[in-house]
Amino acid sequence: MDNAHAQSAPLVEITESHVAAVGDLHVRRALPRAGRRTVGAWCFVDHMGPADVPLGLGSSIGPHPHVGLQTVTWLLEGEVLHRDSLGSEQPIRPGELNLMTAGHGIVHAEEGMGARTGRAHGAQLWVAQPDRTRHGASAFEHHAELPRVEIGRAVGTVLVGEFAGAVSPARRDTDHFGVDVVMEAGTLAVPLRTDCEHAVVVLSGAVEIDGSVVTPGHLAYLGPGRDELAMRPTEPTRLLLLGGVPFEARVSMFWNFVARDHAELDVAFDEWMSGDERFGPVASPMPRIPSPVPPWRR
Ligand code: MN
Repeated sequence: MDNAHAQSAPLVEITESHVAAVGDLHVRRALPRAGRRTVGAWCFVDHMGPADVPLGLGSSIGPHPHVGLQTVTWLLEGEVLHRDSLGSEQPIRPGELNLMTAGHGIVHAEEGMGARTGRAHGAQLWVAQPDRTRHGASAFEHHAELPRVEIGRAVGTVLVGEFAGAVSPARRDTDHFGVDVVMEAGTLAVPLRTDCEHAVVVLSGAVEIDGSVVTPGHLAYLGPGRDELAMRPTEPTRLLLLGGVPFEARVSMFWNFVARDHAELDVAFDEWMSGDERFGPVASPMPRIPSPVPPWRR
């Protein structure tokens, strides 16, 4: 055993993101990973860019459904126009938050990242909804202003939940949080809740945690039981710190659906593909995206 870590029980576990295609963009998918479906209620983390992209709709995503999750959209560069089946039409720019709650079902389109600016850099995360709300109504929120906290030489912007005494106005259905942290130098020590699990996703730069250097394209997972996280940037760094109480259930995910088992996913797939009224229309110039066939039905 490594006695140096005797005081800091759960070790950091670093996994590599896998590269996935979203529209014409390649993204680093940090979550879910094999053996790691959720961190708190966070069940999906895509980091896209930074990249130059052609002006136009090339990086756009046509109308597609979601169930059982919230999408959290956070940009560092570029711009996205969100449209959904509730009638929402909302541009989002860096520093702003879009939070869409799918509940029983919603459809949205994202004209983005570089459609207007030629630059794309951001993250989209999903939060699994608990049984209490996942069959309920869909909703959409835009937050142009979010609370910022200074900790030493670092600045945190609280996207969701509570961090360092600041509380985001964004809706949350479970006990989780997400914060964007910008660090120039020095060591940042942040208090953690021992009843939560946590993860770090580096968006730019590099940060040392427990002797390991974490860079973009990785997820650093920290299990419950830690009361502090010390991070030392080796260059100017921007990252997402996510956390939450371990989720109430084992989630089952397929395509854009989050549920509890294949039977529920089958129903969502069938209803999307048959044009069921569960999934309403979106005012978008792009065509609806058909779902791939679930692997267990091929
Ligand atoms: Mn989506």
